[in-house]
Amino acid sequence: MYQHYARPGPEEGGEATGHAVAIFNMTRDSRRAQVMDINTDYQRLWGGAREEWVGATPNVVEQEAANQQILAQLHDVLNTSVEHAFEGIGGREVSRRHDGSCRHIEWRITAMGAHQHDAITLVLTQRDVTDQVENEAQLKRLATTDMLTGLVNRSQFDTMLKSELSRQDRYARPLSLIMLDIDYFKDINDRYGHDVGDQVLVEIANLLKGNLRQVDYCARWGGEEFMLLAPETPLEHAVLLADKIRCVINTASLPTSGPITASFGVVEAQPQEAVKSIMKRVDDALYVAKEKGRDQVSPIELVTSTRFA
Ligand code: GH3
Ligand code: MG
Ligand code: MG
Repeated sequence: MYQHYARPGPEEGGEATGHAVAIFNMTRDSRRAQVMDINTDYQRLWGGAREEWVGATPNVVEQEAANQQILAQLHDVLNTSVEHAFEGIGGREVSRRHDGSCRHIEWRITAMGAHQHDAITLVLTQRDVTDQVENEAQLKRLATTDMLTGLVNRSQFDTMLKSELSRQDRYARPLSLIMLDIDYFKDINDRYGHDVGDQVLVEIANLLKGNLRQVDYCARWGGEEFMLLAPETPLEHAVLLADKIRCVINTASLPTSGPITASFGVVEAQPQEAVKSIMKRVDDALYVAKEKGRDQVSPIELVTSTRFA
């Protein structure tokens, strides 16, 4: 394979902003693909001089084995689509440019003309879509993350809860939900100011993250309320987890003079339970913890509502 990425391009470090294009030939009987010509953006992407590329194997992606596989697939597609027009193939891969940077490259191969007897001329077009991919990832992060605490937000938690509930039903595994609400948080804001209140929320979010297993989910539900989802956890264990977190918050050194407390509602999902039902039960459980004097954990075992009983 042509050792293109060891060689510097015409503009070392220059961005390939346009479309990198290579025109190449592929013979019907052999799987050989040979570059006939390239443009300067192709050189910027892969390095090497034009004369070095002419006659070499085109680079669809950087990894040699993957490149050969794509070219072999292309050969097979071309040989089965003689009767029909070849509509082209394409994809998006992460490839290393000749300057060593990893970029997301979108590529497409189309036919330049009709099949000749034994060969076809093809056009490979490549575009660096890294900025677009990163922007999309950033937008997704913004849409699913709570900006203050960095925890997942309510809408993302809803999605996770739905998916975990259906997984729990499929495999009949235990799944528990914990809702916690900081006690008298309005007083903290009133006494120390909103900024200190924000700082308390951030620090409590960090305490939650630090005290959960990797498989547990933690979200900011809104205001001073947080939600924890513990897969593979029956009610008794979720109650112990909630009580551990309650103690951690109680004894944490936070930017307030006295200790801060929180109240917890805990439920275990019932078989086939709807999101609405489990959310109502956990909210009811939390209400009971508040009613009983706060700074405590209240579990609810069945679908009965104690709030309006
Ligand atoms: P309880 O023990 O019954 O939960 O009392 P509480 O004061 O915590 O509850 P309440 O619902 O009366 O007040 C919640 C307060 O949380 C009021 C609101 O201003 C504050 N809050 C909500 N979101 C934020 C936030 O992002 N930052 C700060 N600093 N305060 C917030
Ligand atoms: Mg609240
Ligand atoms: Mg509160």
